[in-house]
Amino acid sequence: MPFSDLGLSPKVLSAVEAAGYTSPTPIQEQAIPHVLARRDVLGIAQTGTGKTAAFVLPMLTMLETGRARARMPRTLILEPTRELAAQVEESFIKYGAKHKLNVALIIGGVSFDNQDVKLTRGVDVLIATPGRLLDHSERGRLLMSGVELLVIDEADRMLDMGFIPDIERICKLVPFTRQTLFFTATMPPEIRRITEQFLHNPVRVEVAKPASTVDAITQQLVKTGREPHDKRDTLRRLIRNADSFKNAIIFCNRKREVAQLHRSLVRHGFNAAALHGDLDQSARTAALDSFRNGEVKLLIASDVAARGLDIPDVSHVFNFDVPHHPDDYVHRIGRTGRAGKTGVAITIVAPMDSKSVAAIEKLIGQSIPWAGDPPAAEETLAPPHREHRGSRHEGRRDHGRQRQRDERKPTDRSMDKPMDERRPIPTPMPVAAVERGPAPAPRAPAPMPRASTPAPRAEDLRPRPAPAPVRHREPPVDPATSHLPAFLLRPIRAKA
Ligand code: AMP
Repeated sequence: MPFSDLGLSPKVLSAVEAAGYTSPTPIQEQAIPHVLARRDVLGIAQTGTGKTAAFVLPMLTMLETGRARARMPRTLILEPTRELAAQVEESFIKYGAKHKLNVALIIGGVSFDNQDVKLTRGVDVLIATPGRLLDHSERGRLLMSGVELLVIDEADRMLDMGFIPDIERICKLVPFTRQTLFFTATMPPEIRRITEQFLHNPVRVEVAKPASTVDAITQQLVKTGREPHDKRDTLRRLIRNADSFKNAIIFCNRKREVAQLHRSLVRHGFNAAALHGDLDQSARTAALDSFRNGEVKLLIASDVAARGLDIPDVSHVFNFDVPHHPDDYVHRIGRTGRAGKTGVAITIVAPMDSKSVAAIEKLIGQSIPWAGDPPAAEETLAPPHREHRGSRHEGRRDHGRQRQRDERKPTDRSMDKPMDERRPIPTPMPVAAVERGPAPAPRAPAPMPRASTPAPRAEDLRPRPAPAPVRHREPPVDPATSHLPAFLLRPIRAKA
């Protein structure tokens, strides 16, 4: 079916043509006519399916009539992360260039005042993360009673991040008669309950089996030793010897590990940036931009920061840590092999990871081949490493929610120290100095079997002057409270 049969306006059709799209993706073909007919839609689709345009294009068509009033947005899009919200804003800029609509981004980590000014002017499309949206609403600076259309995107991620109570509150603040578009990659019971409560007779559109892995991605497991420095050695060797390497996202399970691995890679002469929830918004944006535009070849990220990001040309994904939650594996490897390209996803497996690997293989319904020798049976039965003892929540079912709590906690400086550096680096440098100043030249690559295509050139991996310093926000540790568990120190939002 061509785009012209979907009911989109001529202005939107010309924007689609300018974007170079020849035909709608399945989610667009199935959802757009229902959105334009003002039906509620339950879309079960992952990122990469074209689901953003599936709601942005009909919204643009519908917004061509009518005007926004001060502090009363006409439409509201909820996204779980700031990066996803910014990505949706870019879609409105791209497809809505001729529409002259007021689009506002309401996300945490940036000034309230600028957002307030935009709200006062009147907003056609408000794209928000739930916490900051409620903050504006509680201050009385935002009225949601004019919202005609509500989009809840990445709902299963909202669940993982503990946002469902916020979503329920927001759904009660927008008019009952609004139209709702709800997108999720999976349908756990809590998400089903929300859809039953807040969608009215929705059209269900399902375009891909949840948690299915993409054929275009070559997946591999690589055995490593039990010590963290073994994992870092293995990672460096894999990067230096990767076939057809262009760039890579490296996933860690916790933000502390992201910061630690980032420091280590930079010290070893790699051109890397870090992306996790403890960085302030400008550092997150700078890291992402420098990776997107190719200035940085390695992006070390946590799941919370990286989920759903649309970076079309990522050649490799490395799982520095095996994800605790098998769903995260599917989302991580889906960052490569996008837009018709092939990709490689390599997971570094330490002896204590065998259960997590088994859970992933069960979810994806296939076993992942080992590159090189698989671990011997006795290795996989080894007791957990001391560093993992600190993770009290291993084995819990709600890793996602725990991970989000971890992302929200104030940073404990002592936790960010490279406590596992068994082989000390000769000249320890403060992080800021490493990031700002010239880094040491890369070490000679460890011997590895020759790759069939040349390994990345050292100059590609060497740090270049960063576009903006990527700095870690590290609140000072108060000696009076440093003995207290972090959850007691977390700020509590005042009731309105
Ligand atoms: P999304 O699932 O919304 O993250 O979109 C994934 C990618 O697909 C984005 O880079 C879009 O630009 C691209 N895309 C969206 N719709 C189409 C289409 N009809 N044809 C080709 N590419 C598309």
